[in-house]
Amino acid sequence: MFCPKCKYEYIRGVFDCPDCGEKLVETLPVEAEEPFSDESKTVEIFQTSEKSILAMVKAILEDNGIISIISPPIGMRASAIVYQVFVNELDAEKARDLLDGIEESQAESLE
Ligand SMILES: [Zn+2]
Repeated sequence: MFCPKCKYEYIRGVFDCPDCGEKLVETLPVEAEEPFSDESKTVEIFQTSEKSILAMVKAILEDNGIISIISPPIGMRASAIVYQVFVNELDAEKARDLLDGIEESQAESLE
């Protein structure tokens, strides 16, 4: 049984939420996945000028169910182009963890 307000799960036999008094339901309604609705913010989690790194970042995020938005490249000169990767702020921490060390390991392999 679940409280539709608190989203906590309770054992069978409990009918009202001990926290808020709301009637418990069998299953929580499935919320539509709208990661970029007005209420959620996107945050920048990564920057790179390398298209290969960008593709890797996107693949890693997708594998982990994180939707990412890649900004159009900023910068006038080809040598100064920077891609920015944005994710929903709720995914930002996880995404940063996943991407931690990518740039370093890529740099090392190029040496
Ligand atoms: Zn509750």
